[in-house]
Amino acid sequence: MTAHRVWARLFSILAVKRQELGICKYCGLRAGRLRGQHGECESRYTEALRSLLSTATRLALGRASADELRLRLSLAGESFVSGDEAREALIEAYEDAACRLLAGDWISAENESFLASYVAELNLSDAECNRNGTQERIRMSAQLRQIATEPATLNDWRSTLGSLPLRLSDPDERVVWAFRTVRVEFGSTQMRESDSGRLVMTNRRLYFAGREGSHQSTLGRIHTLRREYDGFAIHTGASAKAYSFRSDVNGWFAWKLINLLVKMK
Ligand SMILES: [Zn+2]
Repeated sequence: MTAHRVWARLFSILAVKRQELGICKYCGLRAGRLRGQHGECESRYTEALRSLLSTATRLALGRASADELRLRLSLAGESFVSGDEAREALIEAYEDAACRLLAGDWISAENESFLASYVAELNLSDAECNRNGTQERIRMSAQLRQIATEPATLNDWRSTLGSLPLRLSDPDERVVWAFRTVRVEFGSTQMRESDSGRLVMTNRRLYFAGREGSHQSTLGRIHTLRREYDGFAIHTGASAKAYSFRSDVNGWFAWKLINLLVKMK
């Protein structure tokens, strides 16, 4: 038998012994033969973690004070919640709060400032907050807010983007956003043909300039809008088109943007 196997055997015997002795995994005291924990230790731990999550989420939404959270953190420490587990709960709470806010059209400046204060107060890193793309979406949400509330500031795309693939039809039409590389599938009954190119969204229409040709859809004629895995699909009276974006984050943004434009038209 190799040394590695001997140690593995020994550890498995010790684990069985520990369970036979019944040591509580929370407080480390005897819990009784064949028991892994005291019921009261487990409920104390679960309740402390639940309260920590709930208070942290409320703080990220601006509905609790930093003092309340400090109290929850200290109670969690006394209730067998480790430092790593508490940190994890703080990040989860942030993601949960952001997710609730991101469900709307955009995050208000006030709510965005609550989220930012939470990150600063708890000294969370950008990597921790963005592990599921949450920070990226919050930044995009700020752009959606700007599009919805300060349209005049986005009026000069013509100068920043260079040549646009389309001619704006009337003085009130303005470019809201342009995506450089988008794949589009289109067809009347089944999605068969596809192309890739640039997609320009104006306050009047979607304009796609692809390698094979160009297509446009007036916002007013879109009667169905559907979220796709990496983008969105539209149905107009005559045809169906599905736009795909290379990253899920872009697809999410494009989906929120098309919804906003259809509402604003
Ligand atoms: Zn215990």
